[in-house]
Amino acid sequence: MAKYIFVTGGVTSSLGKGIIAASLAKLLQARGLKVTIQKFDPYINIDPGTMNPYEHGECYVTEDGAETDLDLGHYERFLNIFTSQANNVTTGRIYQTVINKEREGAYLGKTVQVVPHITDEIKRRMLQLGQGNEYDIVITEIGGTVGDIESLPFVEAVRQLQWELPEEDTVIVHLTLIPYLKAAKELKTKPTQHSVKMLSQEGVHPDVIVCRTEKQLTPDLRRKIALFCNVKTEAVIEAMDASTIYEVPLLMMREKLDLICLKKMNMTVNEEPELTKWKGFLDKLKYPKSKVTIGLIGKYIELQDAYKSILESFIHAGAINECQVQVINVHSEFITEDNVGEKLAGLDGLLVAPGFGHRGVEGKIVAVKYAREKGLPFFGICLGMQMAVIEFARNVLGLKEAHSTEMDPDTKEPVIDLMEEQKKITAKGGTMRLGSYPCDIKEGSLAFTIYGSTTISERHRHRWEFNNKYQSQFEKAGMLASGRNPGTDLVEIIELPQHPFFIGVQYHPELKSTVENPQPIFVHFIKAAKAYADKKSDIKNPLLQSEMI
Ligand code: GLN
Repeated sequence: MAKYIFVTGGVTSSLGKGIIAASLAKLLQARGLKVTIQKFDPYINIDPGTMNPYEHGECYVTEDGAETDLDLGHYERFLNIFTSQANNVTTGRIYQTVINKEREGAYLGKTVQVVPHITDEIKRRMLQLGQGNEYDIVITEIGGTVGDIESLPFVEAVRQLQWELPEEDTVIVHLTLIPYLKAAKELKTKPTQHSVKMLSQEGVHPDVIVCRTEKQLTPDLRRKIALFCNVKTEAVIEAMDASTIYEVPLLMMREKLDLICLKKMNMTVNEEPELTKWKGFLDKLKYPKSKVTIGLIGKYIELQDAYKSILESFIHAGAINECQVQVINVHSEFITEDNVGEKLAGLDGLLVAPGFGHRGVEGKIVAVKYAREKGLPFFGICLGMQMAVIEFARNVLGLKEAHSTEMDPDTKEPVIDLMEEQKKITAKGGTMRLGSYPCDIKEGSLAFTIYGSTTISERHRHRWEFNNKYQSQFEKAGMLASGRNPGTDLVEIIELPQHPFFIGVQYHPELKSTVENPQPIFVHFIKAAKAYADKKSDIKNPLLQSEMI
């Protein structure tokens, strides 16, 4: 049986519970323990798959095709492990299971209630991952803020588990905010006291309090928090704002968060955390030797969380290239033929983002054309790849009306069309082509250079695909389908061999980039952007220019 660490949040949302949970998991993993993390979200949606990115940020897709909260992305990027459907549970999913059981008659005539039926189902799922021999520790992040009506059943489930399991099998970590009042020049502990009080009223007492703060906590302040919140002084952990989320495991190690949790669980681990690789990555991240500027062309750019995994993949790929990647967000809705040169000036590479629906697609097509014609490194993901296909059809093949049937169901040239198996589907939730599928890669292609392999597997989330009826027209004109699904022939990768770096992928490579395994397309894209930037500066340097002549 595994041991369980629960992470709750107080005072306000957005304190970074996911990062604290992932950092703690990283430290325990680095001490040789087998750790996983799961997230319980208190909303009624079955999963975040049907939510607008403006509501909930990116929807993270796991290997097994679960549409999940973006925190699972952090878990995978930190721990270099795969998560699955079991790692993300929502209130909606809990109720759906209980209601289905009620319809089956499983409750034998009983009145079905929040306590015990909903809480029992929550507990069952909280314990599930720890019941094989796979993990020593399961960390559970409870979404939302203590005191919310929605999170009550989850906190109640934690209370019951704490009572049911041996004392040393659970730890409660409470993340809270210590605000700094500029006028008083003081850090304030009162909100934390109230949030711990609230948690205690719900029957759960924290073992550890992690304090998000912009100023250092003095020993006096730590003692005060410990005294009023009834924890040991050593269990008051300072979590200062960090310049990068990847620094947080080291900050937590300095504060001994992992050791305090291990002590509560009565676990002795001899090994010191093995973080050589992690520290090597951080060094490269902090001291880059070059810089590139990448344009991220998307329509949800107002909310950075909408492209979380893409932004993190750039950080991983930048570090391995010892190159700082500055990402400039360009709103696709406002790119036109007239202003594209001005909007994309100074970029060393262009990434056209995934997306749904017709808002902003014409701007994406204009941006692709610019990259294709100017030899600017181009990387299109999912919808971004589809836009590259449409641009090529319209401007190279001369199929002026080329479009995707997603945006124009009656187009005469459906170069991107709905997948056959999608045609009968009407319900929206969980019905896309989701999760990991294999892809065969043509030897000699750019994709082959990038992956160094003829078979790969990547994750998906889409309904439309390249229309194979146009295949020979595209190939004759110079757009190569270099990756295909072995079973269905679905086009997974397109590229332009005549271009310095032009690749579009139907899948989402950003979902598999981790600190330890940066995703290869991102790594090569940054390399290509560096080469582009170097060439630009050579041309600007008149001495070199004359030498070149
Ligand atoms: N809307 C497109 C499709 O469903 C692309 C999806 C995406 O970019 N994730 O095929």
